[in-house]
This record gives sequence, structure tokens and C-alpha cells, in this order.
Amino acid sequence: MMPLISSTAMLQAARKNKYAVGAFNVHTLEMLQAVVEAAAETQSPLIIQSTVGTVKHLGPDYIAAAATVAANRTGLPIALHLDHCTDFPLIVQCIRAGYTSVMIDASMHPFEENVERTRKVMEVAAAAGVNVEAELGKVGGVEDDIVVDERDALLADPEECKLFIERTGVFTLAPAIGTAHGIYKGDPNIDFARIERIASLVEQPLVLHGGSGIPAEQVKKAVALGMAKMNIATELRIAFSDAIKDIFKAHPEENDPRKYMVPAKDAVKRLAIEKMELCGCIGKAGDVK
Ligand SMILES: [Zn+2]
Repeated sequence: MMPLISSTAMLQAARKNKYAVGAFNVHTLEMLQAVVEAAAETQSPLIIQSTVGTVKHLGPDYIAAAATVAANRTGLPIALHLDHCTDFPLIVQCIRAGYTSVMIDASMHPFEENVERTRKVMEVAAAAGVNVEAELGKVGGVEDDIVVDERDALLADPEECKLFIERTGVFTLAPAIGTAHGIYKGDPNIDFARIERIASLVEQPLVLHGGSGIPAEQVKKAVALGMAKMNIATELRIAFSDAIKDIFKAHPEENDPRKYMVPAKDAVKRLAIEKMELCGCIGKAGDVK
């Protein structure tokens, strides 16, 4: 039996060996199975993520149970992560349900308050062996109900990143470096010099948010500079939904969910493997033992 593991060790290995672990937001059982099959087929470490909205939609216990089945069946290093959460009681609820990694997003608050809120989560998470990701600066775009005006999107200050880690003890940091959530209107404007500077000051794994639609070369560059976790959300939802739309276009009378869920699952699986290739994490499952 292989339990879900904290994302700490896998991200440490990734940062050290200059690749990133794919972290995939899933919303249904089939999406979860799709990313698990992608990881199993390629022997990749895996982070399954859910947003706060999906936790409320499905229930953290249902999600944790399905992720645990995945870890047991595959024997792969799999972590279950709560994405962008601002709500302390919900973080505690997810940890109790079996999440092994949580993100406290207090980046909309001033620095000191971000430190305080992150430390509070660190206390409960550390006791449970759960990894904590925090954010500094503001990632542009929309993530569930957190809206950041793109003009207002502030990038993370490298010196503050170092100070933030010293003050919070947080193990995983998502610094805003110019990516945005959702699909990019033009090319993303990633500040690579900033990633390099942050990575030179901070040895902890860094997280690339807004991974959907970043050109391949830019992802590879960001990963080479120290990004050790890449979040993929929007592109997976689109692949899943488009596959279902295609089935209904060709067969509007279809009423067997398996007939449209199987192609949707396959589409997500193919995309997840592509993203794992970009991250460089294929074949790296054995790094975490
Ligand atoms: Zn994000």
C-alpha cells in the first residue's frame, strides 16, 4: 500500500535535479484518473490539485479517497494539493480529509499579514506532515473567485522572497513573475531575470502558476532557472470540455456518460503527458523513495 505523500520530497528532488513536477487541477473523477494514468504510463511523480471551488463541489473526503486509491494502485509518488486557499478553516478541513499539501494564498494582504497568515497554516500543517505553498506578489488573471486586476498584478520582490521564507519557514514558494491564470491573450511576459534572482537567494522549490498556454521554450527556461512545480488548470478543463462538445456535435442524442467521458479522459491524459514532457519529470518517479 502506497499512501499519498507530502509534495515536499518530490519538489526538493525536482529543484535539485532541475525539472518540475506537473501539478494538475482536476474537477471530476475522470480528470483525476486521466492525470494518474498519464503519470503511471510515464513513471512520473504527480501532484493532483483541486481548487477551493472543486473542494466545495465534490467534497474534500471524496477527492482524498480517490487520490488515495490512485496512490495505492500505481505505487507512484502522488501528492494531493489544495490550490489557492484564503480560508484557514477550509485548509484544516482538507488536511483532516487527507490532503498532503496546501496553498495558503494571503498574497493580497500586506507582507506582514501574509507572513502571519502563512505561519498560522505552517503550524497546523507541519504537525500533520503536510507541505505548505505560499504566494508572494500577485499572479494576474482569475483563479476561482480571486480576481486580480492585470494592471495591478505586482511581481514578487526577490529580497522579500528570501525574507518571507526565513520568517515563515515555508517550504514551497509561488513568486509572481509575470504569468497569469487563464488563457493568455498575447504571449506571457515572464520576467526570467527575476526568477533567476529569486532562485539565487532561495533554495526552496519555486512554483510556476498560470502554466496554461506558456510557450514550450519559455516553460523549459523557467524550469531550468528553478521552477520545480508547474500548475496546469485551464488547458486541462478546455481539453476535457472540448472532447465532450465534439461528441455531442457528432451525436447530439448521446445519453451514455461513458461514451463522452472516455474520450474526454483520453484528451486530458494526452495533454498531461505533453505537459510532463515539458516539465522534464518523465521517468522521475524513482527520485522520490
Ligand atoms: Zn495559481
